[in-house]
Amino acid sequence: MNVSVVIPCYNEEDVLPESYRRFTQVMSSTSYEYELLFVNDGSKDRTESLLLSFAEQDKHVKVLSFSRNFGHQNAVTAGLQHCSGDITVIIDADLQDPPEVIPQMIETYLREKSNVVYAVRNKREGESFGKLLTAKVYYRMLNYLSDYTFPVDTGDFRLIDRKVLDTFKRFPEKHKYLRGLFSWMGFKQTPFYYDRHERAAGKTKYSIRKMFALASIGIFGFSKKPLKLAISLGTLSIFIAIIIALWIFYNIFFCAGSVVPGWASTIITILFLGGIQLFTIGILGEYIGNIFDETKNRPEYIIDKMINFDTDK
Ligand code: UDP
Ligand code: MG
Repeated sequence: MNVSVVIPCYNEEDVLPESYRRFTQVMSSTSYEYELLFVNDGSKDRTESLLLSFAEQDKHVKVLSFSRNFGHQNAVTAGLQHCSGDITVIIDADLQDPPEVIPQMIETYLREKSNVVYAVRNKREGESFGKLLTAKVYYRMLNYLSDYTFPVDTGDFRLIDRKVLDTFKRFPEKHKYLRGLFSWMGFKQTPFYYDRHERAAGKTKYSIRKMFALASIGIFGFSKKPLKLAISLGTLSIFIAIIIALWIFYNIFFCAGSVVPGWASTIITILFLGGIQLFTIGILGEYIGNIFDETKNRPEYIIDKMINFDTDK
């Protein structure tokens, strides 16, 4: 059995030598053939040269290097589209997800005869309170909004078999929320519980902006409820407007003179309706933006270098 390990890397020079050592140690201790497929996502530090030096002395290492930073999900997608294993493990470069559990995940895969083994975080060490809280709230909100139920506390760390990988390769969509797509696909999925560690070195490469972008791909890619929210808000505002109108008529007819023809009610109504309109236009904008990106049909990533593949570039 061949095992591919897909590892996206963005500015990971601090951690890469240690990661390479641990990945190699773990994979060579198993009886399986393996490849370590590193995807350099347009790093600006020494990540690429480190990867090239690993690849030079070790044929297990394959390197895809992007022409610029295309983002984590695209880096993983590229790795998946270029790996050759019977099973593939997706894992971060920063050793937060310990490579030592990969053999146990393979064991679970064989024992359960499952198609996907997804890693679920028991514990998360060394992550800020803000990150843990937003993650908790977000995954639960996604489950509420979406028509599918996604496992919570699960990232992209998972093992997938050929069948799932081949299915994935047929997906034409560009804005990929991988963890969502894999669980949406179905097949036999088994959880694998593990403790998530602190980053071995370096800082998180997920800026707040990138985190929001990923979160919005998840929600707008898997839920149409925000569109329905626009209808509910519109209905609510019409209802409130009718009540205010009735109140004004009542005052005019029965409490003559008590209604000061004031601007307050006018302004409140304008602001309220204006807010709802902008909000709903924003929601529409998100979906239209996604449609726009999909119709342009640009590639999700551009590969600059390919090392140790059958056809190097
Ligand atoms: N990463 C990437 N491209 C990016 C951002 C991150 O390939 O634009 C990689 C990064 O090198 C790491 C993985 O994605 O291997 C997860 O990123 P990170 O550990 O910084 O995220 P966190 O664990 O803090 O959520
Ligand atoms: Mg990390």
